Amino acid sequence: MGEPNDSAAVAAAWAELTATARRTAEEGLVVGTSGNVSVRVGDLVLVTPTGVPYDRLGPDDTVAVDLTGHQVTGTLRPTSELPMHLAVYRNTDALAVVHTHAVHATAVSTLVTELPPVHYMTATLGGPVQVAPYALYGTEELARNMLRALEGRTGCLLRNHGTITYGTTLSQAYDRTAQLEWMCRLWLAASSVPGRTPSLLSAADLDRAAEQFRGYGQR
Ligand code: 13P
Ligand code: ZN
Repeated sequence: MGEPNDSAAVAAAWAELTATARRTAEEGLVVGTSGNVSVRVGDLVLVTPTGVPYDRLGPDDTVAVDLTGHQVTGTLRPTSELPMHLAVYRNTDALAVVHTHAVHATAVSTLVTELPPVHYMTATLGGPVQVAPYALYGTEELARNMLRALEGRTGCLLRNHGTITYGTTLSQAYDRTAQLEWMCRLWLAASSVPGRTPSLLSAADLDRAAEQFRGYGQR
């Protein structure tokens, strides 16, 4: 992404961030100004502003903070979930983070402490997805609960709240959220058949899927 203070890199990252945030609303993963998106450019973290509809964000609305949360760019206030986003950047190799209130994922977060591994896509998130205990939105307590649930994973559920995933690109972080929401929908569908219980994958099945994914896609 170039030098940390490279303004062209920041402008490009902001354009991609706002497009990703709009996509979360367009594809039904959030309603209104729910959710938030961030991307790291060197030592800067660009974040969606709090409470602003994503279709109103233009190139002049860039909001950036440093890794301590100090605002470096912009006048709009950063997302209330800055503690979660910064905790991910400080503790992982993430370059992008997506938080949503996707409906099936949020429903599952109220029912179990771990998403049962009904599909091999579980392997793309590092293993069975954990549910972080509930804490008030925007708090350091929520960020701490999230970090524990993210151990060895690239995404988790937030109890009675939603999803958070990360990746090395915005499209990877977004795709992990979409896959997580899809798996939650799948488990809800399978587990709601009366008198039947969905079959689950073993740890060995997931390990084999993770291995197979290393060679997935085009060369
Ligand atoms: P912001 O508008 O502050 O990003 O908050 C939305 C949200 O999802 C809080 O959890
Ligand atoms: Zn939220």
